[in-house]
Amino acid sequence: MPAQPASRVPDEAHQPPDEPLWCAHCNTDQHLLVNSIQSHYPPAPNTVDVAYECRACRYSYEQTASVQRVAVVLNRPGISQGVLQFGGQYLHCGEPMKTRSCELRTIEASLALQPGRPVRVYEVYINTRVLGCKCGFRMETPD
Ligand SMILES: [Zn+2]
Ligand SMILES: [Zn+2]
Repeated sequence: MPAQPASRVPDEAHQPPDEPLWCAHCNTDQHLLVNSIQSHYPPAPNTVDVAYECRACRYSYEQTASVQRVAVVLNRPGISQGVLQFGGQYLHCGEPMKTRSCELRTIEASLALQPGRPVRVYEVYINTRVLGCKCGFRMETPD
């Protein structure tokens, strides 16, 4: 059995590690950008596998962390983390976005089958979901 770090109390030995998101190169978490969050396996309450990178040194990290650890970086003011995909969910402002409505959209796709021939316009129907965040941000995704 591998040696546990001395700082870890025995009670936590069976818990997934929960280190803060951190860039060891820059010795700060100020430049971190979360790229993806995946469910941890085996499932553990509040625990995710997170991939992130440091925009200062471009170093990428992957680790297991609690949702709170990830939220510290995600909710930092001043840095737009954008939309984050989390399993089948989309997160904005660190929260799952809620479905506001479902739409049937038409997309017109112009396609030139052969050079020199007239361009034909095709109509493509797709079902979409309109997702909204409490901050007012909305986006539409194919269902
Ligand atoms: Zn860095
Ligand atoms: Zn938002």
